[in-house]
Amino acid sequence: MIEINGVTKYYGNFAVLKNCSTSVAKGEVVVVCGPSGSGKSTLIKCVNALEPISEGSIKVDGIEVNDPKTNLPELRTLVGMVFQNFELFPHLRIVENIMLAQRIVLGRNESAAQKTAMALLDRVGLADHAHKFPSQLSGGQQQRVAIARALAMNPKAMLFDEPTSALDPEMISEVLDVMTSLAAEGMTMMIVTHEMGFARKVATRVVFIDQGEIVEDRPTEEFFNNRHNPRTEAFLGKIL
Ligand code: ADP
Ligand code: MG
Repeated sequence: MIEINGVTKYYGNFAVLKNCSTSVAKGEVVVVCGPSGSGKSTLIKCVNALEPISEGSIKVDGIEVNDPKTNLPELRTLVGMVFQNFELFPHLRIVENIMLAQRIVLGRNESAAQKTAMALLDRVGLADHAHKFPSQLSGGQQQRVAIARALAMNPKAMLFDEPTSALDPEMISEVLDVMTSLAAEGMTMMIVTHEMGFARKVATRVVFIDQGEIVEDRPTEEFFNNRHNPRTEAFLGKIL
């Protein structure tokens, strides 16, 4: 579903990603971890073309992301993205947040968009909050709305960039639970997170990035049980 091949990216003279290759097969859940500033956000932003790459190739469902002929709004319906800070539209009600792109990008009519929005809100446990504004919800609730909003586009894959890092500790599990159920339903996901308990339970593979390099890319059990890489060890030692 997602193929990242020999990707290098520069910000000016600084190589933020160095010859990175990995992939996410259909139905796989890949957790990306690594120290702050190692290039995790940049890597997943490259997947839906929020950042251009300097060298290499990224394909999503066979579509070359960096081909100038690629239709980017269409690509971004294929891969939904959820950010650390939710990024909801503050002036729109919850239900309207989930309807907007359905109306504009997919051209759905008002009642179809509303029906989909309400079904998704029900699924993330927030149907009762449909007519509130984002500021009236807790962080965990807002993040669940952001997930519902991404799902409204019927994506084939989902990207998450530290979806629980801005949350108070008691709200982390309600968001991870939604992600766990998505994984159980077979959603293809690439997730930047430091929640190693979640990674261990839900991920099929773990990718470890350090200073723009993919240092490890291994099946989850092997990653946690067969620890030998000193760079990974130094990182895990700080967070576990
Ligand atoms: P992570 O998500 O792993 O913390 P990022 O991908 O956000 O890392 O950033 C990787 C490195 O690239 C950091 O050193 C950061 O300062 C730098 N960086 C990120 N965005 C930009 C930008 N727009 N311009 C220049 N440098 C950037
Ligand atoms: Mg980041």
